[in-house]
Amino acid sequence: MLSFYPGPSKVHPEALGFIQEAFSNGVVSINHRSERFEVLLKDTLQILHEKWNIPQDYTLYFISSATEAWEIVAQSLIKEKSLHLYNGAFGKKWAHYTQQIIPNAHSSEFGLNEDLKSVAPTLSTKDFDTICLVQSETSNGTGQTICRSDFDLKEDAIIAVDATSTMGGINLPWLEADVWFASVQKCIGIPAGLGVLICSPKALERAAQLNKKVHYNDVLLMEENRKLFQTHYTPNVLSIYVLNKLAHLLPNLAVIDQQTWEKASILTDFFSNANSFHLSFLIENPLLRLPTVFALQGETEQIKRLQHLCLKNNIELGKGYGKWKDNTIRIANFPSHTLEDFSQLINLINA
Ligand SMILES: *Cc1c(COP(=O)(O)O)cnc(C)c1O
Repeated sequence: MLSFYPGPSKVHPEALGFIQEAFSNGVVSINHRSERFEVLLKDTLQILHEKWNIPQDYTLYFISSATEAWEIVAQSLIKEKSLHLYNGAFGKKWAHYTQQIIPNAHSSEFGLNEDLKSVAPTLSTKDFDTICLVQSETSNGTGQTICRSDFDLKEDAIIAVDATSTMGGINLPWLEADVWFASVQKCIGIPAGLGVLICSPKALERAAQLNKKVHYNDVLLMEENRKLFQTHYTPNVLSIYVLNKLAHLLPNLAVIDQQTWEKASILTDFFSNANSFHLSFLIENPLLRLPTVFALQGETEQIKRLQHLCLKNNIELGKGYGKWKDNTIRIANFPSHTLEDFSQLINLINA
């Protein structure tokens, strides 16, 4: 089955060999306080920094998921007032869960065809100590440009960004935010069960200032462990191993970024022209469409017919999310998806 679901999605085919290797060399059974693990973690952090062009003073942590990252931001980093800006289901959920922890978490929903640059000046962003943004809103396929100067902020305010369906697939402007996170089963292309959290020195300063340390996954405890090349709990060592091997194998993110946009433009060209399923883009403004998740809308009957045709041909498309469940489909364009995969899909739709 070829999966274009925007997560869990197609896994890099090479992952299978790495998983087998981890069994045969015993990595699947190593202790996370052992020297062997420390060597693996150190190398993984190093290769990800290098291949993803992450600033040296930003630190990387392995957690269980993007959902856990929402909670970590709320529990270790928000001082007392956060502002959540979103236009889709994931941003909304993040705001909702934060409100259970931070009574002063505010949220503001904006339109599908609006960008942060025009939304930010309409809000009194200076009142907040933490701004929570969704760079890749997987539910509707919108992508935002993250830029600090779009926001009028207090000196010590931090920005946290959910980049779950773009991290590992496009260049991200790391310096424009203090916290970035993603789960691995989307753009990163390995089986679910691991999350990546990246923090700026300013985010660590915030954690130190709040000095909470009341949760096992407090940023400060994660940082204490990272310094020893360990983790704050027994992590998904198998996934860290697979991620390590893939990071060594794949080219620099700048190259992957180009490939992602090239594949995206093929898909955009195809769906911009008439197709037998009468699909059109859910997001009208091309600049706000994610290159990694295409959301296409159509009549419910056509959507059903297309889903059915694909399943019959061993291809899985993403269903619509939430209120777009019946009248949209989503197609992932992650680094694991090849030009051949898209030819197969396009040929099938054209047939
Ligand atoms: C999938 C997704 C999440 C949740 O990921 P989990 O691995 O289920 O925690 C959060 N945010 C966005 C934007 C997502 O696409």
